Formats: sequence, structure tokens, C-alpha cells
Amino acid sequence: MFARMAKTTRAAAAAAKKKNQQEESLSQLSKREENEVEEAEDDDLGVSVHNTQTFAALASQDTAATTIAESASAALEVGTKPVAASTKKRGVVDEEETTTRVIKKARVRKDEVMIPAARTAGVKMMVGAHVSMSGGVQHAITNSLNIGGNAFALFLKSQRKWVSADLKEADAKAFRAGCEKNGFDPRKHVLPHGSYLINLANGDAEKAKKAYNCFLDDLKRCERLGIGLYNFHPGSTLGLSRSESLSRVARALNKAHSETKFCITVLENMAGAGNVIGGKFEDLRDIIAKVKDKDRVGVCLDTCHLFAAGHDIRTQESYDEVMSNFDRIIGRKYLMALHINDSKAPLASKRDLHQNIGLGFLGLEPFRIIMNDERLESLPLILETPMEEEKTWAEEIKLLESLVGVEGDDPEFLATAKELADSGAGERRTAGIAAQKKAAKAVAKPGKRGRKGRNNGESDSEGGDSDDGEHRC
Ligand SMILES: [Zn+2]
Ligand SMILES: [Zn+2]
Repeated sequence: MFARMAKTTRAAAAAAKKKNQQEESLSQLSKREENEVEEAEDDDLGVSVHNTQTFAALASQDTAATTIAESASAALEVGTKPVAASTKKRGVVDEEETTTRVIKKARVRKDEVMIPAARTAGVKMMVGAHVSMSGGVQHAITNSLNIGGNAFALFLKSQRKWVSADLKEADAKAFRAGCEKNGFDPRKHVLPHGSYLINLANGDAEKAKKAYNCFLDDLKRCERLGIGLYNFHPGSTLGLSRSESLSRVARALNKAHSETKFCITVLENMAGAGNVIGGKFEDLRDIIAKVKDKDRVGVCLDTCHLFAAGHDIRTQESYDEVMSNFDRIIGRKYLMALHINDSKAPLASKRDLHQNIGLGFLGLEPFRIIMNDERLESLPLILETPMEEEKTWAEEIKLLESLVGVEGDDPEFLATAKELADSGAGERRTAGIAAQKKAAKAVAKPGKRGRKGRNNGESDSEGGDSDDGEHRC
């Protein structure tokens, strides 16, 4: 089983390589938009920097996508094998095909739209991915069903605009109904990601207000959708006092909690370059300490960010140590979710560069450890890995699920881990050299603005956590 997945993941690696170039240009676009946020242009709702247009395309293919979604969900309900069910349904489409143009079109779509994987029933580890909601929030459910996710993340609106059109009531209703129909608990297994623009730590009153309004709007959207978790980046000090910055974040959270009812605000740990808040567990601890309603605040741990920030989770021993530090400093009860990403950059690189599972500097072992950590049962485990086609995530979900109950010395597991590691070797070499060059440059020319602790080349956006050429999520 592992071998087949490794093969697909290798294909993903090749696709990811191509995607890197796309990320670079998108990243540059992001940087421009951070500088000119007011002029942010229309973008395809919900397609993140790391998500390609595939899901947008899927979501807009109403006939075919709905057919597939229905067959997947119907299969889920009756407990049969969804792939078989979907094949049958597609067969029906074939039979019905006659001479009309519309149906011909549907046939073309049928070939393009396939369910790469069905959901695994009865699992305790809720794996999914950050999917597109292009065309309406309810499409995130279809997109998640298509890749076999038991949990999912999404943007609630354009992540590049301060103000977006109101959530349509019909869409909200369809989302709530879709979650119920397909057995997604929106209070626990749906983890929206906040806008990149939001920096609640911003010391400029006007900008802080704009960020807060955008944040509050997101939280209100969550509550209309019945969503109980909302993940966001703690922000950036922008060079101002760290303790003041953390207080500003906490104050914004307290205000937002008072203006909403139940949604838990989930702070994400960050790779921690320069002024970014959240690279250290202590940052998150100090924010939480100032939050009045402790039931409304939590933490999402991103594996790539952990590693980039210097938390080594590559062995059982080091993973246990990191998690016990988390427990001691922040408290295990605050852990609400994980972002499951390998890292293209080495340990403590402070670089936010996601990689496909097993191909990066983390390798497959930490993901085996995570998938066997019973304390993480029922938490949303969200992939934000590079994705060229939906099959990538579908395979990664199945790969992760297959690691449950597998020992670290299992020969088949070791062979798969090696195969994945081998296929990611080239990219790791390139990234390693780049990281070394960057570090050397930083030593030679410390802090372009002369502030202590800055990484050279890092830029502080209003959103607070951008880094040059970096993937952000
Ligand atoms: Zn990231
Ligand atoms: Zn994130």
C-alpha cells in the first residue's frame, strides 16, 4: 500500500516543483498587495497561495461536481464503497448521453472530474486539507469529499481583500445542510483560515481597526455557518515592543469574543522570522494569559512552522519533548488543530516553505508519530502541502491514515519513507543551499533596518508574517 502512495507522491513532487514557480510569482503578488492592500484586485475566492485552480475548476463544474459529490456522500451514508458508487453514477451519465451539447459537455467534464479517493469511515484521526470555496462556501464540502477528507480548512472570503461581499444566506444554509448531510461536525472538524492581511498586533490605530473589522467579520461568518474554530496568524510586532504587541492581540480577541457567541479563536504557531509573533510557544502563552474567556482561545500547531522555528519533531523522543514543552508552556488543553506539512527548509531555518509529506526535511517519521498520538484524536489535521491536482491530497490523506498502528521499524514503512525521501532529495539540496546562503548573508549584513533579531530580506507586511518568496498558511 505504501509503495503505491509513494509513487503518487513522487508525481506530486514533480508537480510541486512546477508549483514552486507559481508560488514565487503569487508570493510576489502577495507582497505587492500587502503594500497596496487598498487596491487589492479581485481574486478567485478561497484559492490559497498553495492551492492551484483545480478546485476552483471543480467547484464551477456544477453538473459534474454535484453528481460526484452526491455519489460520494450517498455512498458515505449507506456505508458502501464510494468509489464504486461514483463509478456507477458516472456510468449512468454515460448511458444518458445522447446528442445534446450539454450532455456532451458533461461527458468531457466527467473525464476531468474524478473522485481520487473516498473518505475512510470510522477513523479517529480526522485528516483533511485546505480546500477551495470558490463559487461559495458550500463548495468546500464537495472539494473535501472529492479528496476523502474527514476534516477541512477553507478561507471564508478573499484572503487578499479587507472587505468582501456578505455571505449569502443561501450559501450559508447550503453549507450547514451539507455538513450535516455528510457528517462533518462544523464545530470541531472545519477550520477556516483567517485572511493574510489581518495583523491584530498592528500599532497603527487605523490599520488595527481595519484588521479587527476584517477579523470580526470572519468570526461572524463562522458563527453563521455553525463553525466552532477559526485559525489565524498572531501577526507581527512590525518592530514595536513585543509585550505591547501581544497585549494588542489579546485585547482584540477579548473584544471579538464579546461581540460573538461561541467560535474559538485559534492562534497558529509560526516559523518565527524577524518580528513575526508565534515562533515561540511563549508568545502564544502570553497572548492566552491576557484572554479573558479561556474557552474561546486555542492553538493550531503547524508541523512545518514548528520545525522551521527550531522545534525538532523528527524522532519519537524529540517529538515527545516538543509536545511536553507545549504542554508545560501553553497547555495541552489549548491544542485545537494541526496543520500537517513537511518542510522544504531545514530545522530552525525560520522559513515557511511547505513541502509534500515525506519529501522534505521532516520526512515521513514525524507524521507516523503524529498519526499514532492518541492525544490528537478527533482534532482536525489539515494538509497545506503543495497541490497540483486533487489526487495529491487524496493520496496524502490515505498515506497518513495508513500510518495508524504502524511501528517505526516496519520494513514497508521504512521503504516508503526512504522512497519519498529520495524523491525529495533534489529539492532539499536546493533549499538547504538557499538557506545557507541566506544565513551567511544575514551574518554579513545583519538586519536591513538594523533591528535586533531580524532576518535579512524579511519583510513585515501589515499581515505580519510574510517572508520573501515564502509560502504562507
Ligand atoms: Zn506555513
Ligand atoms: Zn496559517
